[in-house]
Amino acid sequence: MTIAYLSLGSNKGDRIGYIQQATSLLSAIDAVSIVRTSAFYETEPWNMSSEKWFVNAIVEIKTKLSARELLTECQRIERQLGRVHNESGVYADRTIDIDILFFGKEIINEPDLIVPHKFVHLRAFTLVPMLELSPDFEHPVLHKTISELHNDLENPEMVFLYGTRVEM
Ligand code: ADP
Ligand code: MG
Repeated sequence: MTIAYLSLGSNKGDRIGYIQQATSLLSAIDAVSIVRTSAFYETEPWNMSSEKWFVNAIVEIKTKLSARELLTECQRIERQLGRVHNESGVYADRTIDIDILFFGKEIINEPDLIVPHKFVHLRAFTLVPMLELSPDFEHPVLHKTISELHNDLENPEMVFLYGTRVEM
């Protein structure tokens, strides 16, 4: 059994509805159980080519799957919820984006699977909900806890608890 953290984000359509549907599709997988979910956060697009704000949340899961099997399941759910992958690699608004932030202490560096997620330590919208769930979790590559990484953020973008601004 591995504890993993998945980032769910949506900036298109019924954003909260998509995150809730993704969570319930994840919990429907036999080898996955949802342990906890963070609050919903509303965040400015990190990639400035879109103006549509995101709703983000993190779910903590327990799973018997491998990281690669989990990625396959996440991509299936993205497709099921109408995520369209842009062939050109140009940024597109998305109904749902599911990223594996951490998979236990595993370190994976493959072309299509990098764990811990390569941006997890740089983004307030991943560190703030992680802080809520697991402040003492240690990043297996950087050897810093979530709290320390959050304190290190130089330019934290604004993160709102859905509807309400939160102190950074
Ligand atoms: P992004 O999440 O960066 O906005 P995509 O969701 O389109 O973009 O993902 C692009 C690729 O990132 C996927 O095809 C996937 O293979 C790869 N990838 C690498 N590491 C991870 C990870 N930790 N979690 C999810 N996808 C990942
Ligand atoms: Mg993604």
